[in-house]
Amino acid sequence: MKKIAVIGAGIAGTTTAYALVKKGHNVTIIDSRRYPAMATSYANGGQLSASNAETWNTTKNVVSGIKWMFTPDAPLLFNPSPEIQKYRWMLGFLWTTLKGDHKKNTLDTINFAKKAREIYFKIADEEGIEFELLKKGILRFYDNAKEFKLDKEKVSWLHQEGMEWEVLTTDEVKKIEPAFENNKNYEKILGGIYTKSDASGDIHKFCTNLERILVEKYSAILQLKTTVEYITRQKDKLVLTMRHENEIINDSFDNVVICAGVNTQSFASRLGDKMNIYPVKGYSVTIDLKDEISKKCAPTVSLIDQPVKIVASRLGDRFRVAGTAELAGINTDIRQDRIKPLLKWVEKYFPNVSTETYTPWAGLRPMTPNMMPITRESKMKGVFYHAGHGHLGWTLSAHTAQIVADNIDSN
Ligand SMILES: Cc1cc2nc3c(=O)[nH]c(=O)nc-3n(C[C@H](O)[C@H](O)[C@H](O)COP(=O)(O)OP(=O)(O)OC[C@H]3O[C@@H](n4cnc5c(N)ncnc54)[C@H](O)[C@@H]3O)c2cc1C
Repeated sequence: MKKIAVIGAGIAGTTTAYALVKKGHNVTIIDSRRYPAMATSYANGGQLSASNAETWNTTKNVVSGIKWMFTPDAPLLFNPSPEIQKYRWMLGFLWTTLKGDHKKNTLDTINFAKKAREIYFKIADEEGIEFELLKKGILRFYDNAKEFKLDKEKVSWLHQEGMEWEVLTTDEVKKIEPAFENNKNYEKILGGIYTKSDASGDIHKFCTNLERILVEKYSAILQLKTTVEYITRQKDKLVLTMRHENEIINDSFDNVVICAGVNTQSFASRLGDKMNIYPVKGYSVTIDLKDEISKKCAPTVSLIDQPVKIVASRLGDRFRVAGTAELAGINTDIRQDRIKPLLKWVEKYFPNVSTETYTPWAGLRPMTPNMMPITRESKMKGVFYHAGHGHLGWTLSAHTAQIVADNIDSN
């Protein structure tokens, strides 16, 4: 049994801690916030989506990205501030695109996503965790013929990987999600693509409930309001220097796993590890479905409006709508001009859902230029990374956590 510190109690840290306690290790989870999962793993799109596990490194996205820079309510917003890390990340993104790694990386993430999905289902069953899990699949829909055609062309190579993308007509879209009924804009939908084995659920509820089980059932230690400042090696131990309120604490461990989301980059820089994680900002609105009409008229199948890159998930009596990619550094200010398109989208497709009461949110996707998560060891022996899942942290973490835990055991 090893004594292991996990830095970060978001989805990457929570799943890592779980994989490690299941192997019999003694785990301490450390997070600077007052509660677990209060950063990016708080109010995301909710999708456990092997069907949407595509990396973004395509020429089409690069061209669209350039066009979107000049469109105020586009899915991508570029802030031209002079920030070296941003330009380094963009060059890395471009390089991955030119190298043509998109297909290989996409197939890898699909595989990870499928394995992760099974682990989440198993955890939910074995630990009795409630997180508004809906196993109703994910439905992409299109009102743009060009986008629909392009995605249909991917169906054949995705099928080779066992990805069951089912192409639907407009009527079939409505059959799968009847909430589209009685809506004039529905007629503009040209069809859809459905992945029935996908799911959705509340990432924050999952993390909070699993953290409780980690402490109560598996005797993990949860050290909140504690910021890790340094990691040093002293003989065969790793020493963490932490700040808890105004007190400095030192504690030693056999291994450390850094799951610090967008802050992972600063750990890597201090440890001398090559890494390139950029905070790609996104927004969500969580609508309270207070009245019976809103409850009845909000969809229950998780949705992707592919042309505008908006995702939506039903989370019990709430409806979450998320989207936007903004390159603006470490900044979680909520901009109303980015929230408005999400509310307008609800009004467009689900006009009977009241948007009177909603909670806006902004989060930072910890994104690598090639969109692949990092699960490797640091130059400082015994320190591992589990970070950089970008737009797919909820979808992939349960499986990538297993990879990290296996790496630690085989070291
Ligand atoms: C708008 C939006 C929609 C999204 N939708 C989806 C989706 O539908 N499906 C999907 O799969 N993914 C989605 N994602 C991505 C997903 O939410 C993220 O990839 C994931 O939450 C990242 O988790 P994490 O644990 O790596 O980081 P975080 O959740 O940010 O956790 C990192 C933790 O580390 C702690 N920390 C940092 N530094 C320190 C330190 N020095 N000491 C102690 N603690 C520290 C922080 O307090 C934080 O709690 C979405 C993201 C956004 C923004």
